[in-house]
Amino acid sequence: MKKYAVHEANSLGREHLENKSPLRNDFQRDRDRIIHSSAFRRLMYKTQVFVNHEGDMFRTRLTHSLEVSQISRGVARSLELNEDLSETIALAHDLGHTPFGHAGQDALNQCMKSHGGFEHNYQSLRVVDKLEKRYVNFSGLNLTFESREGILKHCSTKNASSLGKVGERFLNKTQPSLEAQIVDIADSIAYNIHDLEDGYRSGILSISKLKQLNFFAENYRNLRDDLNSNEAVEKVRVYETLRYMMFILINDVTSHSRKLISESNIKTIDEVRNHKTTLINLSEPVQNYLNDCRVFLRANLYEHPRVNQMTSDAQRIVVDLFNYFADNFEALPSHYKIHEKKHRSIADFLSGMTDRFANNIHKSLK
Ligand code: MG
Repeated sequence: MKKYAVHEANSLGREHLENKSPLRNDFQRDRDRIIHSSAFRRLMYKTQVFVNHEGDMFRTRLTHSLEVSQISRGVARSLELNEDLSETIALAHDLGHTPFGHAGQDALNQCMKSHGGFEHNYQSLRVVDKLEKRYVNFSGLNLTFESREGILKHCSTKNASSLGKVGERFLNKTQPSLEAQIVDIADSIAYNIHDLEDGYRSGILSISKLKQLNFFAENYRNLRDDLNSNEAVEKVRVYETLRYMMFILINDVTSHSRKLISESNIKTIDEVRNHKTTLINLSEPVQNYLNDCRVFLRANLYEHPRVNQMTSDAQRIVVDLFNYFADNFEALPSHYKIHEKKHRSIADFLSGMTDRFANNIHKSLK
């Protein structure tokens, strides 16, 4: 590993002191704690874009997190950074997501408006810091500072100032480790490409629609053309194209970041943190490709009437549940009540729900 990677030896450690493991380094341990957490298992039944009952072949938050970790590990390895740490952050990065994807989050944020709001990154940190209950001596998973730093990808200054050291970088505008920066980009690469694929699978994005996206159209055209164009082959050509697009993105972030790191002359993790910009980045032309994907998906998938329908159903459920527990606070499971104010406890409970659990409770309340 490079000197400016996060090393166990320069880790800022855990809040509660623990003996070292004879078998695993600290970041592998963090990763394993996440995999064994109940919040991680629940990602299996949380919506990415398509709600669970739409079909079994779509991404969920769990498969999304696995894809992000696969990309992150690859990039970290090739840049000789701490692969274990990148993997850990990737697996945990969406733990704080509500049921029903962004619709659920927007609804909960709305409900929490006069109670401090709801931010999913901040919530992911709450999950690993407070809400998981697996240790007698402390709440949460007692992860290393570096894992927690990476999980807290964005944070409002108001929340940041209540978090101590891990919130500092949002106040003094410094950078997180390169390993955390990798996960940030791996997340956008993963969801943009897999949402194109899921959109195509769902029938909402046809090939002719996809071809309106230049990045797709160019790579689709470049595929070998000597195949019969029956439907099965066509499908594979789409997957092949998306795979190649992903290759371009990953390849670019790796080579461009390598160049940025070498030009920056950084030597240590402190220099990484104090550098004025992030050093894990796509080159400008390829960043533009990715931005185009985002714009295209917003216009053609996320705002599609079929997706909007799911969205409005989901929002209604979240709002109903929130109001119900605000009026009947005694009905909230007791271990959610111990942390903070009433509405924060309700948000903790609600955001931890899977789509199905939220649906079932909602039905039973009616
Ligand atoms: Mg994500």
